[in-house]
Amino acid sequence: MQELSFRVQASNDTPHYTVTIQKDEHHLTAHCSCENGGANALCKHRLSILAGKAKWVISDNVADVKRVLSWVAWTDLGEAILKATHAQKRLKEAEKELEKATAQCKAAEEEASAARDALIHAMND
Ligand SMILES: [Zn+2]
Repeated sequence: MQELSFRVQASNDTPHYTVTIQKDEHHLTAHCSCENGGANALCKHRLSILAGKAKWVISDNVADVKRVLSWVAWTDLGEAILKATHAQKRLKEAEKELEKATAQCKAAEEEASAARDALIHAMND
């Protein structure tokens, strides 16, 4: 188990909040002492640190935020992000294919329509 904690800037009378990131082999957990820091809600402090941004960090270990980012890459969270990115790419490819297929379908329809017109024309001659 590895652990990093950061002091982050608070917006009210509290001098600071503490964000703690813990990593074991496959899991990453993030806790924050702010009022939105419960286990189920992701507050802005944790979100920004998990995204590798030191925006709220006031402790002198700002450089460690980059370590968190490398942790994220090797956990289930990183895998989920990777999967989502991959799925997004596949979706884009599928959309492109659909666009191409739609264009081909339209061309085939036009061809059929032209052939029908030619046939009608030939029958009327
Ligand atoms: Zn927080």
